[in-house]
Amino acid sequence: MDYLPLSCPPKDRDSLQAEGEVALVGAGPGDAGLLTLKALQQIQLADVVVYDRLVSDEVLNLVRHDAERIFVGKASGNHCVPQQQINQILVEQAQRGKRVVRLKGGDPFIFGRGGEELEALAVAGIRFSVVPGITAASGCSAYSGIPLTHRDHAQSVRLITGHAKQDGVLDWPCLAQEKQTLVFYMGLSQAGEIQHQLTQHGLAVNTPVALIENGTTASQRVFTGELWQLSALATQVISPSLIIIGSVVQLRSKLNWFPDNG
Ligand code: SAH
Repeated sequence: MDYLPLSCPPKDRDSLQAEGEVALVGAGPGDAGLLTLKALQQIQLADVVVYDRLVSDEVLNLVRHDAERIFVGKASGNHCVPQQQINQILVEQAQRGKRVVRLKGGDPFIFGRGGEELEALAVAGIRFSVVPGITAASGCSAYSGIPLTHRDHAQSVRLITGHAKQDGVLDWPCLAQEKQTLVFYMGLSQAGEIQHQLTQHGLAVNTPVALIENGTTASQRVFTGELWQLSALATQVISPSLIIIGSVVQLRSKLNWFPDNG
């Protein structure tokens, strides 16, 4: 029970209500063991959890049973809740004094529109914090035995959106260079284009490629092949899948440790 001074006018009573806040939390790629301690702490303190399609059931099971859950999941081409509305939900819940966790698959600042949501909170004057998560590139590479860099194979890594058609133009001559690892998020529907462009810009057709479906989970499947096979391989997997391209993929034959269904 809150005790308010008897003379407190209604306006001041409102301002005494606890201030809400939003934690933008990375849920990692699926395996709940990959959550950070801070993410777990935030999830268990939340009054409201606003989550995406990519957040695994295993992670959702860690949400307090009395917390409200709001699903705002988006499937490619099937935008359940428009971004604007998601922003509004976050602002409204926080304005009601709630402790809100905005839970996103992987890392919220990597192809997660986390930045856009924080901008909306900043405009509305809502307090926020960010808890990073393990992004799909890190999770999938670890659980498929494909190091993203290796002194003999790749000196840099590129995280690329396969939706570049909508989000901007990719620098194909740069992406076709050797000695780097390419990781395409949301690349399945563009696999044919990725194969075509990289080949056109000089990347060898026998460059190793891997597709990792449902990475880090019990249903993970991994398919490997060469660049010329990429578009055919993409027809065998479902979303969410990650595409890794580069000579590091060869290391999987020696370094794979995670039993999967591929
Ligand atoms: N913020 C997320 C990425 C969101 S974009 C992160 O940091 O991981 C969504 C894309 O991420 C999917 O289309 C897929 O390419 C990739 N992805 C996310 N989780 C994945 C998983 N468990 N296995 C394979 N790919 C995954």
